[in-house]
Amino acid sequence: MVTMKRRMLLGSAGVALAAPMIMTRAAIAQQSGADTSMNIDRAMPPETHRFNVGKFEVVVVKDGSRPSGNPQETFGTNQSVETVGALLEANFLPADSFVNSFAPVLVNTGSDVVLFDTGLGEGGRANGLGRLVEGLTAAGYTREDVTTVVLTHMHGDHIGGLMEGGQPAFPNARYVTGQAEYDFWADPARVGTPAENGHKGVLANVAPMAEKMTFIGDGGEVVSGITGMAAFGHSPGHMIYRLESEGRQLVLTADTANHFVLSLQRPDWEVRFDMDKAAAAATRSKVFDMLATDKLAFLGYHMPFPAVGFVEKVDQGYRYVPKAYQFDI
Ligand SMILES: [Zn+2]
Repeated sequence: MVTMKRRMLLGSAGVALAAPMIMTRAAIAQQSGADTSMNIDRAMPPETHRFNVGKFEVVVVKDGSRPSGNPQETFGTNQSVETVGALLEANFLPADSFVNSFAPVLVNTGSDVVLFDTGLGEGGRANGLGRLVEGLTAAGYTREDVTTVVLTHMHGDHIGGLMEGGQPAFPNARYVTGQAEYDFWADPARVGTPAENGHKGVLANVAPMAEKMTFIGDGGEVVSGITGMAAFGHSPGHMIYRLESEGRQLVLTADTANHFVLSLQRPDWEVRFDMDKAAAAATRSKVFDMLATDKLAFLGYHMPFPAVGFVEKVDQGYRYVPKAYQFDI
């Protein structure tokens, strides 16, 4: 009897101690009322996805996702609301809202651990974003394991995770990025222009690492088997990367196309985030023509997680076909 009582007491004490530390999914759902999806996401481990490209191990992490209204204000800004909505509905998507997600990727070549882009970092945490490091940890990698950080370009959702608590988030890494991209954003001439905020972000997050940075152009090599390609337009020095190992390939297209339907089926539609809209559209067609012709897999930073797929050329653009087991055999 005494033993049983003690057990019960210990049991309830254990619950009392544990309860304040563990926010259960049910409790989060109750607290947050109607709009629970993002809070539920936060209670779940970050999504990760692993596959091999030849002897390279590729780990994609979902840094987070962000629902928005009014798709036409971002994609197809030179089209009518009705035209954009109709294309979405024809693809089984809502006409009046969309979800943007963020997919940084780690590539372990066997001799290097290369991270492509860093997510939103600390600035995204309040909204359930900035989960890259949490995801890498879940996949068995520490921040210290990363030997090279590649920045495809310097928009906030790609450079936000470079610093953590005022220190470099990946303390053992060297950095690789496009020369044209860094030169644009670091230039004090951006002050007083629409790029001023971006300039400040680069001074805060990228410039402190400039001494450990290798600046490349079209065709520049990151490590053996990983090559940069100029894909300017989305930003002035935006670059994409081709991975090749044992005859297998994957192209990291970064922000060349940012919606798997609107940007791919209508590559010429204008996109709010493309800084040079005509150049971005031309680059989009060039890159996705190449991927369709060569039947190459690609990973797009804003494609639906795990963000890997193929494109088939159809009338005005390209149809997105998500990856299945192609890399597992
Ligand atoms: Zn982006």
